[in-house]
Amino acid sequence: MKKRILAWLLAVALLLGGCGIVADGNKEQPCDSHTDANYNGECDWCGHSVMTTVDFYTVNDLHGKVADGENHPGVDELTTFFKNAHETDDNVVILSAGDMWQGSSESNLTHGLLMTDWMNRVGFVAMTLGNHEYDWGESYIEENQAFAEFPFLAINIYERATNEPVDYCRPSVVVEADGIQIGIIGAMGDCYSSIAADKVEDVYFKTGAALTALVKEESDRLRSEGVDFIVYVLHDGYGRSAGSTATTVAPSQMASYYDVALSDGYVDLVFEGHTHQQYLIMDQYGVYHLQNRGDNKGGISHVEVEFNTVTGSFNVRQKELIRTDSYERLPDDSIVDELLDKYEDQVSVGNQIVGRNARKRNGDYLCQTAADLYYQVGMERWGSAYPIVLGGGYLNVRSPYSLAAGDVKYSQLQSLFPFDNDLVLCSVSGRDLLDKFINSKHDSYFICGDAQRMKDVDPAGTYYIVVDTYTSSYAPNRLTVVEEYTSGVYARDLLADYIGKGGME
Ligand SMILES: [Zn+2]
Ligand SMILES: [Zn+2]
Repeated sequence: MKKRILAWLLAVALLLGGCGIVADGNKEQPCDSHTDANYNGECDWCGHSVMTTVDFYTVNDLHGKVADGENHPGVDELTTFFKNAHETDDNVVILSAGDMWQGSSESNLTHGLLMTDWMNRVGFVAMTLGNHEYDWGESYIEENQAFAEFPFLAINIYERATNEPVDYCRPSVVVEADGIQIGIIGAMGDCYSSIAADKVEDVYFKTGAALTALVKEESDRLRSEGVDFIVYVLHDGYGRSAGSTATTVAPSQMASYYDVALSDGYVDLVFEGHTHQQYLIMDQYGVYHLQNRGDNKGGISHVEVEFNTVTGSFNVRQKELIRTDSYERLPDDSIVDELLDKYEDQVSVGNQIVGRNARKRNGDYLCQTAADLYYQVGMERWGSAYPIVLGGGYLNVRSPYSLAAGDVKYSQLQSLFPFDNDLVLCSVSGRDLLDKFINSKHDSYFICGDAQRMKDVDPAGTYYIVVDTYTSSYAPNRLTVVEEYTSGVYARDLLADYIGKGGME
């Protein structure tokens, strides 16, 4: 009896086969174009599932942490994690929310090229530019963009000279997964103050209402072209006033960086970066926002979205902050060794031992030592021609925030002082010298100088100080550059020299 029914169904199927429709109930053979009039996730004709999932994995603020470090894994385990995801998930979209290049010897010595190479190999779909992508100026962004196999995104970075968007960024990119069109829009936040001003003097960022308008317009354009789902990847986040210890963000606090009007139909999911805070929140429109800690210390953000490939409707199936400890025990991928081999000529200087450090040194000690050295080298170079009052300025160490006892490698100093800020001799009014330097209450201002000259400062006079270009180009300091020290000598180089001469033994 059963056999006869099957035979009959087969005959009907063969009769209908010419128009691509298979008889209802035949679940063996999917038809050419599914429909799902009753929205049950199964084709009305062949009964096959019309659902698919897309797994979004977003990395923010990796800051060049390619190799295993004292307090973070390298990208070797992360690579294994992504390879596993590609094997088990239907569709994988790997994104970056910016600040990928700046912050390790391997990455910095190649100006981000090694990191970009890793991103190519792992299959990143897009990267939103972060403020630190500007740390070596626009030419390196252009070089890395030429090498990248994925677009750099930022809808709101404009050239001052032309008022046109910069040509190394795109406003958005569209990718397709099982027929679902996914639009990804990128934007740079209001992050000027964390970029050395001289590195961004040719560009400006549209922020606030102007940024909202740009994103709405782009979203409308994408939707009109059939895009089903829009991801917004923003290099900004809550926390400019929260301090780096906050771990959760109340939706009401988002106004400082995100216009929630965008969640009213313009964007469906938001990944953020820059503030290095771990959070997973849902705003009043039901749109999720995720950010993770930087430096490969916190993990990555993951959202799995299930789509009906016929209707385009979707629901968020899973959202989580994947902690570093859940992948750092995975087997190492050989990718890191391959990359370090490939770029050996550029990165080998990082392995040089510059000298010995007798005990663990904290950040304040290291910054104060750098300020002392700014003053010292400034006095040696210019002391006979200019009555220099002090050296120092804004100094701030990066992860791992302290220097361990023992042999010191150049790469350790590069992680602590990653920025390429040249030394300069500047003139300054007595008033600003007192307010911004000598009497500064700012935690990150370190100075060293001539005690008598500091005491005798007349607010109406003009004085000379030695700082780096981060401090000199910070407009509120109102410094005028008089002369540049040898270009390409940075805080870390002065420290390497000092340690080499036994300064920390
Ligand atoms: Zn960052
Ligand atoms: Zn940033």
